[in-house]
Amino acid sequence: MSVGVRGVVLVVVGLLVGSAPVRQLGRAAAGRSATHGSHESAMAWRSHGKDNDSLISSLKAHGIVRSSGVERAMRAVDRSTFLERGADAYADSPQPIGYGQTISAPHMHAHMLEKLEPFLKPGARVLDVGSGSGYLTAVIASAIFGREDSDGTGVAAGIDVYSELVRKSRAAVQKVSSEHKKWLDEGKLVLEASDGWNGRPEGAPYDAIHVGAAAEQVPDALAEQLKPGGRLVVPVGKQGLGQELLVMDKQSDGSMVTGDRISVMFVPLQRTHGKTL
Ligand code: SAH
Repeated sequence: MSVGVRGVVLVVVGLLVGSAPVRQLGRAAAGRSATHGSHESAMAWRSHGKDNDSLISSLKAHGIVRSSGVERAMRAVDRSTFLERGADAYADSPQPIGYGQTISAPHMHAHMLEKLEPFLKPGARVLDVGSGSGYLTAVIASAIFGREDSDGTGVAAGIDVYSELVRKSRAAVQKVSSEHKKWLDEGKLVLEASDGWNGRPEGAPYDAIHVGAAAEQVPDALAEQLKPGGRLVVPVGKQGLGQELLVMDKQSDGSMVTGDRISVMFVPLQRTHGKTL
């Protein structure tokens, strides 16, 4: 276990037994009405930058970005491309993207990406549920297709329930780089409107699935659409206190084993019964 992970685990233990975390949550919630952060002081809210490179350097200095693959992919996608002018693009906090939704805080994206990183290999098929701004899907695409040993195969697919957010995310992704535009045109980088509770059966099975909104329970469709040996990273729990980010690995017999878990705060994965909004 790396020092960083151990630090997070220790703080989570503190979260579960102490009263300080409640104060901490209060402060985080009061300071930022938006969500998508971890409550752990070990990694939360500290890695600000003045531009994209200094933001990533700060995440690295705080031990949140650890692997070279995640670092390279995050440097290749400028967070400001996915935000309105006037947003604090390089602050380590969520920012509004419309429809009451937010782009997650950089430390949370980095944490998620490190959990996905062992699966972001050449040919990887990855699904990002609740893709929102499209930022994380774009970084996942960079991680898979932008690596030197990429053979050009694989897919980075993002789905979101708000059609208008998907339209905006497709427009933003094309501005990231000519490569991103090409991947989108070729159908390797996909951004589509659909209800995440159903996953995306047409691209299954996936090596990894990330969920960017909190589900009351692990969606069955997502567990089903995962390859044996694959990984599901999903925040689970009701809005408010008590959500946990689960890192679940699918075994060869189809069962799901949960590894580490940390306390988080996400907007809900809405129940739309297959409809888009
Ligand atoms: N990773 C994204 C997170 C966006 S916030 C980003 O950083 O931009 C969570 C997203 O989940 C929102 O965009 C919201 O529209 C989406 N969402 C909520 N319920 C959903 C559902 N049932 N299916 C798909 N997306 C959903």
